[in-house]
Amino acid sequence: MVTFPLFWNVPKWGSLMTPSSLLINGAWVDAIAGEREDVTSPFDGHVVGSVALGRAADAVRAVDAAVAGFEKWRRTPAHERSAILMKAAALADERAEEIARIISGENGKSLLEARGEAGRSGEIIRLSAFEGSHLYGESLPLDANKGTGFDKIGFTIRQPVGVVVAIAPFNYPALLVLHKLAPALAAGNAVVLKPARATPLTALAIAQCFTDAGLPDGVLNVVTGPGGEVGDALVRDRRVRKISFTGSTAVGEHIASIAGIKKMSLELGASGPVIVLDDADIEAAAHAISLGGYINAGQVCISAQRIIVAESIVGDFIDALTPKVQAIRVGDPFADGTAVGSLISRTEADRVTSSIRAAVSAGATLVTGGEQDGSVIQPTIVANVDPYSPFAQDELFGPAVAISTARDVAHAIELANSTAYGLGAGVFTNNIANSIRAIREIESGVVHVNWTQLWRADLMPYGGFKASGIGKEGPRAAISEMTEVKTVVMHGTPWNNG
Ligand code: NAD
Repeated sequence: MVTFPLFWNVPKWGSLMTPSSLLINGAWVDAIAGEREDVTSPFDGHVVGSVALGRAADAVRAVDAAVAGFEKWRRTPAHERSAILMKAAALADERAEEIARIISGENGKSLLEARGEAGRSGEIIRLSAFEGSHLYGESLPLDANKGTGFDKIGFTIRQPVGVVVAIAPFNYPALLVLHKLAPALAAGNAVVLKPARATPLTALAIAQCFTDAGLPDGVLNVVTGPGGEVGDALVRDRRVRKISFTGSTAVGEHIASIAGIKKMSLELGASGPVIVLDDADIEAAAHAISLGGYINAGQVCISAQRIIVAESIVGDFIDALTPKVQAIRVGDPFADGTAVGSLISRTEADRVTSSIRAAVSAGATLVTGGEQDGSVIQPTIVANVDPYSPFAQDELFGPAVAISTARDVAHAIELANSTAYGLGAGVFTNNIANSIRAIREIESGVVHVNWTQLWRADLMPYGGFKASGIGKEGPRAAISEMTEVKTVVMHGTPWNNG
């Protein structure tokens, strides 16, 4: 039975009323302590809604519900799970425009970008439903093991892990929530979701698609509130079998240190390199980088941050890139023509501006951009960047690229690999030998040839090396990580051991 929320959020733009309570055991409920907080627009600070402020006790309540929910869901046949997910996908499609408006309201990204994000929701759920109905095992040729004969039969079955805790970041509040929820539910797990504190309304609107589709009580639970308190309580809970976390490397390291024995996927930070070799199509590279460095105001884990350009073409490359970056329209997320909205907060914008200024004080050249107006930063190009300086090595998470130069392909790959991270990389070249060398030698979970890393098909395996994380997302990969393999051996009576 789904109860109705005590409070509804009525958005300024649109008509979809979203719940603003916690979702626990199929009921929209207040936090135990009764606390609430406003959600505000990062662009102009106006209140876009309010949510319950969950605490550790609410996290425990949500895990209680998930444990009970799992007992029902694990016994629900895959075709029934799939049918509920397909309904949720249809609802996500129907509500995509309203969800896009919620995203822009609380996250500050342009409506153009938010529509692109919300428009992918239904498909992620459908891809997951498909994979969730393909939980195959394998037969084991036990007789190939000396001393074992045909009297035994061995095989594996794949089962859901149980309770999955999903912790999501602010930058893609629909997409990254769905990359956890949809595969977890499709595989037969129960979930406790903790969305980012800045973007809880999108997560609640998405959860509502699942409850409206008929997901049984307790199978999906949502606790909004502070990451430190709610997140820690969920991560430490021994009943939780799997943590699926996307966020910063610092919080990921903290989670890994307190989680205990649990399965874990950590999708973490990056400082993504793009190599432009001297045989590349400079116009094409500049076009792709003018998107990949600035989409979502650079607040993307796969943003093109470090542009490593062959020395001989760097001047031409900057000439090609500059007008394209200057043409990006930034500002009010809801205004017609805005391509890129605000950063997630004024504080974050101040941090990015300080990083740009520090790079320039250290000797780099500001080619264009850098102006800040509140939480909006003009798209920025910084050239002559020391590739070992903090501006290149640390994750910027802002709308700026750092251009450095490389002597040759070996040097370019060395620089690409020089950070602690390894999530996504791009290489622009028209030479097959150089592409193959880059593909094999770049230490990164995803490599793109002749595009930047800021590209994702939702079905592909997606995850980082090194400090960028552990494990892969994408429905098939995520379902593999959200299930466990059980080995079964049936012992008969020897009759033909040869
Ligand atoms: P964040 O690490 O600050 O927060 C992520 C989530 O963790 C939020 O829900 C937050 O409330 C929660 N959290 C905070 N403290 C916690 C704790 N002690 N225990 C458990 N949970 C806690 O990250 P953010 O600022 O929301 O997102 C930006 C970061 O996410 C960037 O570093 C970015 O690269 C990374 N990111 C990575 C990927 C990827 O696929 N690798 C995708 C998107 C974002």
